[in-house]
Amino acid sequence: MLEPQYTPAEAAKIARRHVVTIRRDLVGGTLHGSQRVDGGRWLISEGCLSAYMAGAECQHRAASNVTPMRRAG
Ligand SMILES: [Zn+2]
Repeated sequence: MLEPQYTPAEAAKIARRHVVTIRRDLVGGTLHGSQRVDGGRWLISEGCLSAYMAGAECQHRAASNVTPMRRAG
């Protein structure tokens, strides 16, 4: 089952931060997100957003920041 994923606008609402802050932290790697293509729409998984809100290191991807999703095939 897929983990819920949020857009930057949804993440901003949930985290009570400005969407500009969310995007900056996505690019900077503070908040983990993925893009299907370079420059495409960001998607943030629930676990990463929770860690970000708690100011904690996200454990499942602690070593890396942005992981682009590649369309299979
Ligand atoms: Zn993460």
